Amino acid sequence: MSAPHEVDNLVIGGGLAGSMVGLRLASAGRSVTLLEKERSAHHKVCGEFLSPEAVEYLRQAGVEPLDLGAATIRFLRMSSKRTVVEAALPFTALSLSRYALDERMLLRAAESGCNVERGVFVEKLATHGQMAVAQLRGGESLCARTVFLATGKHDLHEWDRTPASQSDFIGFKMHWQLTPAQTEALRNFIEIFLFPGGYGGLSLVEGDVANLALVVRRAALRKKSGWEALLASILDENRPLRQLMQGSKALWERPLAISPIPYGYLAARPSGLWCVGDQAAVIPSFTGDGMSIALHSAALAAQMYLTGESMDEYYRTLHAQLSRGMLLATWGSRAMVSGAGHIFTPFFYSLFPNAMRWMAASTRIPEQALLTLPAT
Ligand SMILES: Cc1cc2nc3c(=O)[nH]c(=O)nc-3n(C[C@H](O)[C@H](O)[C@H](O)COP(=O)(O)OP(=O)(O)OC[C@H]3O[C@@H](n4cnc5c(N)ncnc54)[C@H](O)[C@@H]3O)c2cc1C
Repeated sequence: MSAPHEVDNLVIGGGLAGSMVGLRLASAGRSVTLLEKERSAHHKVCGEFLSPEAVEYLRQAGVEPLDLGAATIRFLRMSSKRTVVEAALPFTALSLSRYALDERMLLRAAESGCNVERGVFVEKLATHGQMAVAQLRGGESLCARTVFLATGKHDLHEWDRTPASQSDFIGFKMHWQLTPAQTEALRNFIEIFLFPGGYGGLSLVEGDVANLALVVRRAALRKKSGWEALLASILDENRPLRQLMQGSKALWERPLAISPIPYGYLAARPSGLWCVGDQAAVIPSFTGDGMSIALHSAALAAQMYLTGESMDEYYRTLHAQLSRGMLLATWGSRAMVSGAGHIFTPFFYSLFPNAMRWMAASTRIPEQALLTLPAT
């Protein structure tokens, strides 16, 4: 094995959080290396719904989702077996594939001076006093003074994010080509659908492609014996969704899947690493706002590191900012997958439409916590 190469700042993972840290540190003149395991742009399990906060952070980083063809979302429609409820969102959201978005952010990090290395998989990470040693696949290793952990949904060996309050979900995602009439019916909407043991969302992304993402409890999936049977039973039961998808064409041979998803996880104690993105907080999908948290936590960690604040203080700040939204989103997610919840939730929102808007607003990052970043 060759002697470890040494770097000042190491970012592990080149999703939105990792790219944001790389970009912020490099823009401030720091030497930073980012390692991303994938060699090229790739799809990720995600609903691809961008809240205004996420869009604002992206714009501050020099990425304009509309230039990449993002679709707009102004309305939310929620359906279950018996009920459909519709409401205007309290904001305009955007929707863009992670394939396009993450690649653009990674490029911005590289343009800012971050040394981005693709196709490099970190197998292990060990801390030795003031230094951390990352062991790379292939036998090489890298020493770093400071490490930002941004591996998102994937835990590094021996750095698991457990326990979390709701970890029994499997996530799926697949892109579809709808018929022209279905595409028009979906335009400007995010369609949230509930079914026994899970829920999901359907919306357009760039190029009028439809993204279907859902989460399902492991036990509920077992009963259906796999993705195809699950999808067939959801469409069979949910008429509005069936109308939107009947006769549509799957663009991939099989869906992407991810498990476990530690919903409700919020890193509270320093671990010797600056954890950002999903490594710092995992808010339940569709009831919370994961990408804005990824971008915010990364921007906050970079800012606090650059101004000499402690890791301890970073985790305390993040916890104070996110814990209420996390609690509400986890509660909302639990309610939607409970026995009667998937029937009752749309019914409840049809009686109290303002409650749906309140929920959408209350699970986001508090306005006063949002950062204004220096120009890059
Ligand atoms: C079903 C589902 C639906 C969702 N829908 C939405 C939504 O609609 N809107 C929203 O805002 N959020 C949504 N989210 C949440 C959102 O996807 C995440 O919060 C966000 O992707 C976190 O970004 P990240 O940068 O932390 O991680 P990621 O985007 O997962 O990026 C991590 C990166 O690290 C790399 N990596 C991993 N391990 C290694 C390693 N060992 N070495 C090197 N590189 C590594 C990966 O290849 C990846 O590129 C959803 C999540 C799920 C599961």
